[in-house]
Amino acid sequence: MTTSFRFDNSFVRELSGLYEQWNATHASAPELLALNDELAHALGVEPAELRSPAGVDVLVGNSVPDGAEPVAQAYAGHQFGGFSPRLGDGRALLLGEVIDVDGVRRDLHLKGSGRTPFARGGDGLATVGPMLREFVMCEAMHALGIPTTRGLAVVATGDQVRRETMLPGAVFVRVASSHLRVGTFQYAASLDDPDVLASLVDHAIARHHPAAADAAVPALALLDSVMDAQAELIARWMNVGFIHGVMNTDNVTISGESIDFGPCAFMDRYDPETVFSSIDQGGRYAYGNQPAIGQWNLARLAEPLLTLIDDDLDVAVERATALLQRFPERYEAHLLAGQAAKLGLPADHRDVGELASDLLALMQRHGADFTMTWRGLRDVLDGSDAVLRPESNVVDPDVDAWLARFRSAHVAASVNVGDATAAMDLANPIYVPRNHLVEAALSAGTAGDLAPFEELMDVLAAPFTERVGLDRFAEPAPDGFADEYQTFCGT
Ligand code: AMP
Ligand code: MG
Repeated sequence: MTTSFRFDNSFVRELSGLYEQWNATHASAPELLALNDELAHALGVEPAELRSPAGVDVLVGNSVPDGAEPVAQAYAGHQFGGFSPRLGDGRALLLGEVIDVDGVRRDLHLKGSGRTPFARGGDGLATVGPMLREFVMCEAMHALGIPTTRGLAVVATGDQVRRETMLPGAVFVRVASSHLRVGTFQYAASLDDPDVLASLVDHAIARHHPAAADAAVPALALLDSVMDAQAELIARWMNVGFIHGVMNTDNVTISGESIDFGPCAFMDRYDPETVFSSIDQGGRYAYGNQPAIGQWNLARLAEPLLTLIDDDLDVAVERATALLQRFPERYEAHLLAGQAAKLGLPADHRDVGELASDLLALMQRHGADFTMTWRGLRDVLDGSDAVLRPESNVVDPDVDAWLARFRSAHVAASVNVGDATAAMDLANPIYVPRNHLVEAALSAGTAGDLAPFEELMDVLAAPFTERVGLDRFAEPAPDGFADEYQTFCGT
């Protein structure tokens, strides 16, 4: 099957030992549910080509395009703290690497394409709802300017999948700058052949962190660079109220892209202890724990790299530890940069940290909506004091004190109000994938009505631009929804 995709499969070429060649399970009656035209163009393919029956067969895995070499990738991972030495793509395949129109290498990947040698007890399948969900969430993140894997397509397979009930099956076609994970390094280090790990380090450096190649100790420089990418990523999540939900080491990329949007969700009311995932009983991956978990996951990346950091294990541990201890300060710097933008203040303004953390504390006290509160701050500069108390009549002198400090920080920084509010609108989204909207779109989609899903995708594609008639997309869930809401993983 010829397509316009230009494949060049460096992972398969360079890293034998880290995958199994494999083919997708045949889908009986594929039907394209969603296609990302803009991303198709970026990959050098006309959307019409992918909409044709032959194109849909490629997207669902029924035919292998020329140049592709499908593999199931091997990786290990710490899941909720416990180590699994062999996870791998149980229901996914890397079709190959496409060189896009800008010359950038990008993985083309299928999720839900059938059992692989890594499937363990799983059926290798995925259903329409969760695959549409991953599509919505990753494209929303992209529109928010947050590094993320992308969604190219969702294809219904025409086959039924057994979950609690029978559900329509689907394949999600994902695009990523790579699928290298912390767990890939954990797996490589467990093999008898040390050359595999060394090749993986070279491959990861060349692909994502090329400056590390020239460092005195490339493996340490790689760790440093991944640490920075992850610190920035998590800071960006925190600044939009995003909860990944399953920050296992197999879901942490070397590129710094968000990946594996299983049970993730955006928070409505601000509470750092918020957890949505049904399997996260202990709250390990609660909103407020994400930075600390990020640092823990980077320590798991350091372990397989130790032999390449120094021949003397004690020296290697010392150097890696010294580096990892700097995670909080890196994270803080990225967080503050984002908070300064959200507050409309210059990046180096000394009050940013305190203003932001005091605002968050007030949000928590008043059960305020995270997204609406940040977005509403612009109105404070325009003279409104409605922020943080849209519905309650409670008078809180701390809110007034905060508003006064916020206004005087702006006066002292002599930021022009018009410029500040315009800049704040670009840092504080009005439309995020709120759980109740996502759920409604997915239930309709599963039942065959894609209109709500398509409308939601349109709204989320421009999250910073307020548009008339879209008020309901900006509002929090009806009372009671968030208390009951749970998300599910591996579905
Ligand atoms: P995830 O929670 O999607 O990150 O997946 C964790 C691990 O479970 C990965 O190794 C997946 O490939 C595997 N997995 C999840 N669901 C299935 C399934 N239905 N069949 C086979 N493997 C699965
Ligand atoms: Mg995963």
